Amino acid sequence: MARCFGQVRVTSADVRDKPAIDNAYLTSAEDRLVAAKGLRLTREIMCEFAGANQEVLPGPELTTDEELAKAAEQVGTSIFHPVGTCAMGDVVDSSLGVNGVQGLKVCDASVMPRITSGNTNTPTMAIAEILAGMLEEEWRHNRTKT
Ligand SMILES: Cc1cc2nc3c(=O)[nH]c(=O)nc-3n(C[C@H](O)[C@H](O)[C@H](O)COP(=O)(O)OP(=O)(O)OC[C@H]3O[C@@H](n4cnc5c(N)ncnc54)[C@H](O)[C@@H]3O)c2cc1C
Repeated sequence: MARCFGQVRVTSADVRDKPAIDNAYLTSAEDRLVAAKGLRLTREIMCEFAGANQEVLPGPELTTDEELAKAAEQVGTSIFHPVGTCAMGDVVDSSLGVNGVQGLKVCDASVMPRITSGNTNTPTMAIAEILAGMLEEEWRHNRTKT
């Protein structure tokens, strides 16, 4: 299934100007299906295992994938973990160099090709550790050559 990613775009040549951020939440069919399935599973857990007898939100009348995805749009939040706007494979290579631009590397959460299953801070630090190791190795290699 095709995935849609959000975008962060520069709005001017002045670095002090804020970028335009479009998270594109729930715009891909896959994300909408996952949201619908998530709400259905929550409903099942609450009714069958937690013994809740009345659903308040999103409401028992919403049953189709599209109705549930629409409900997810209204109540969903991002929990602040945006990733992937400079995804490895698309924008950067496996050593975090920007494809087609010599000497420019990206090292932050934007290089993750997909969101991690847990929170993003530690994986971001791991990416930084790995790049630091690669740069150190490169530096040592160059030093022994001279
Ligand atoms: C409210 C909130 C709560 C979070 N809670 C958690 C949590 O509990 N656990 C967890 O794992 N993750 C959490 N995260 C996510 C985590 O903070 C991020 O995944 C992580 O910080 C991403 O690191 P980064 O280096 O990509 O970006 P950032 O940490 O955002 O670093 C970007 C840096 O670039 C600087 N910068 C921006 N523009 C410029 C410019 N023009 N010139 C120079 N510098 C610039 C900024 O000042 C900033 O220091 C949370 C995020 C938010 C917003």
